[in-house]
Amino acid sequence: MTQHSTGRITRRSALAAGAALGAGALGASQAMAAAPGPEAPVPSDPGLGSAPEPLKLNEAVGTTAAVSCVDPYASDIGLSILQGGGSAMDAAVAMAAALGVTEPYSCGIGGGGFLLYRDAATGLVHTIDGRETAPMSYTETQFTDASGAELDFDAVVNSGLSIGVPGTPAMWALAAEHFGTLPLGALLEPAEQLALHGFVVDQHFHDQTQENAERFSRFPETARVFLRDGRAPEVGTAFANPELADVYRRLRTEGVETFYRGEIGAAVLAEANAPSTVAGREVQGSPMTAEDLGSYVPVLRAPTVSQYRGMLVFGMPAPSSGGVAVGEILNLLEHYELRTGIGLAQLGETDYLHRFSEACATAFADRNRWVGDVADVPYAELLGDGFAAERAEIMRPSSARPRPILFGWPDGDYTTTPPAGAAQQEPYEGQSTTHLNVVDQWGNAVSYTLTIEQTGGSGITVPGHGFLLNNELTDFNFVPVTPGVPDPNLPGPGKRPRSSMAPTIITDAAGLRLVVGTPGGATIITSVAQIIAGHFERALPLVDAIAAPRLSSRNDEDGEDTDLGLAGSPAGRGLTGLGHHLAPREEKDWIGNASGISREAIGLVAAAETVRGGGGAARAW
Ligand code: GLU
Repeated sequence: MTQHSTGRITRRSALAAGAALGAGALGASQAMAAAPGPEAPVPSDPGLGSAPEPLKLNEAVGTTAAVSCVDPYASDIGLSILQGGGSAMDAAVAMAAALGVTEPYSCGIGGGGFLLYRDAATGLVHTIDGRETAPMSYTETQFTDASGAELDFDAVVNSGLSIGVPGTPAMWALAAEHFGTLPLGALLEPAEQLALHGFVVDQHFHDQTQENAERFSRFPETARVFLRDGRAPEVGTAFANPELADVYRRLRTEGVETFYRGEIGAAVLAEANAPSTVAGREVQGSPMTAEDLGSYVPVLRAPTVSQYRGMLVFGMPAPSSGGVAVGEILNLLEHYELRTGIGLAQLGETDYLHRFSEACATAFADRNRWVGDVADVPYAELLGDGFAAERAEIMRPSSARPRPILFGWPDGDYTTTPPAGAAQQEPYEGQSTTHLNVVDQWGNAVSYTLTIEQTGGSGITVPGHGFLLNNELTDFNFVPVTPGVPDPNLPGPGKRPRSSMAPTIITDAAGLRLVVGTPGGATIITSVAQIIAGHFERALPLVDAIAAPRLSSRNDEDGEDTDLGLAGSPAGRGLTGLGHHLAPREEKDWIGNASGISREAIGLVAAAETVRGGGGAARAW
């Protein structure tokens, strides 16, 4: 289904967007009534009246500009900024701020993220690393006890130990300054209005809150802000967060300085150092210091780049493994084709998914061994043809290789038999996060994935400020994934935990071709690669490539491939016949609410999920 969406901006989002464009916004009485004191209870959902939730839409076609993400409020804000003359980066920052309001368990100023930006005028792709960072006191054994045993994972998640120095506010400031056309203050205003006046609770928000209700109840401030009498707010009711609105106002007027070196920073530190809990439940605090917080810097990095079907695939380098792993998977698919002489387009669904699974498991073995926040990631080799050709040799067309697959050697020597690698087990990563895409009227593009790690992050809310702190440091491996093998993802001082986030931009000779990304922890890598393969190899329209059942092979030592929707299908049975162990998830647990924008002959096609994760919101102009 293809629809144009521009006529469908609701009262709420039009108001919010109007504020960003200097059109004036809501009545002064509403704004004043909601200004909170630090101890004020959160008022119950003011101001929204009976406004319906804005339309979610899985596809929209335009000739000028486009946005997509999971949330209709954020997409409407992004579109309005673009229509008002703003740039892709302007819209991206404004959308991210709005997602901090409507998707507070997946992202927000207490977290971090990775962003790709393509400048149409130069054709250059830039990246911003806004990843959370470990305090300087962290060591390689931070998450083990005196006997060397791993600390209890859940206990670490729900404690100060998991909280990294947040990167998102500094990243927005850098993004706006370097690549935007509007000041950060203008970009935060629509989200401030949204937080102040609220959004309509949908089933997805309700379910995410309810699933976390017990955990949130351990932290009185989190319960006060996000629960209603200990339960999730009802679907269809309005949810406002005036304290978060006030934080946005302060970031707008005082700058992000206040977050890193001012009063908001002091509140972040106090809560991270000594989280407030209900009686009888103690959690460990973070050793984060004012220096750790005050010295945070987002980093501009060169993107990963690899060739695929005559196009260039740009991705995120370390500390994310997204760019390397997605690039290696696509390289392997091409090399399987060279090796067998049979292209993916000629294969039936089972054989296609078999190859895809083998490529994914191989890439996971390699990223676990070689990618992390270390100085010597061998990008050129990992993404080169020589390594891909050597690694493609291990694929068997008619059976699944036993898992875990051993890691390879990106050493530049691909003519002799490589030394045996070792098995690489798959470490845990959360499955939350959110993603947004923007293309503006000049052809500039943003692909931005942002997170607080687990759904609800650490569960710890900064008192009086309405936002959750991340648990990103649990993305470090607590102990080496393979005993005796160097692990690039152990904790360390000032180190950033390895990510799977894979915001991706693909270009061809004519320029921009695809912008895509998704949440989903380690499944991000397989989902992004599968959407790209589905679109380009299987000729699926982007919206169908996003909606298609997914297979996520992450080289699990039990040999399990996470199956999102294949169970019972002929392809699912075929894969089982080839020796794949499918681990089906229930539909409610389908992860990876993806979105993207493709450039087609008809124009820009914005696409989002149809069903998975509650659907998404595409807009185009
Ligand atoms: N922390 C994960 C990562 O950086 C993302 C979490 C998620 O997607 O849920 O890869």
